[in-house]
Amino acid sequence: MSQRTFSIIKPDAVRKGDTGAILAEITKAGFKIVAIKKISLSKAQAEGFYHVHAARPFFGELVEFMASGPIFPMVLEKDNAIADLRKLMGATDPAKADEGTIRKMFASSIGENAIHGSDAEDTAAFEIGYFFAGLELK
Ligand code: GDP
Repeated sequence: MSQRTFSIIKPDAVRKGDTGAILAEITKAGFKIVAIKKISLSKAQAEGFYHVHAARPFFGELVEFMASGPIFPMVLEKDNAIADLRKLMGATDPAKADEGTIRKMFASSIGENAIHGSDAEDTAAFEIGYFFAGLELK
């Protein structure tokens, strides 16, 4: 069944000029881009997005990184979108990511890892609503 998920091309990938190549991998894998925009987050906005990680030791670093430059948040749609995007992204640490995954190809470290993807239906709903209004999702 068709499902929506939320993704971000992170500041490291945007800085390196990999946005177009990553979008090509995503569309080649059968995802439809429902919505996309370019924005820069304040630290407070990055903290709000990653609130579930507030207790993790790397939270400060993660927030600094996500507020360090422009990002492309987007909403993607296909059958089984949430699980299929996680597969296409690869492991959090690019050193452990499978060949052919976006993180293997474009990420440089466990922190600066090129792409975000929602991990479940409830987080996808929260994350889509954090970045996009209903009118942008037609
Ligand atoms: P994901 O679902 O694969 O993105 O991974 P997690 O939900 O575990 O972590 C969220 C994000 O926090 C990751 O994508 C990384 O950008 C960052 N992160 C995770 N582990 C570390 C770490 O050990 N150090 C740093 N600096 N960032 C991390």
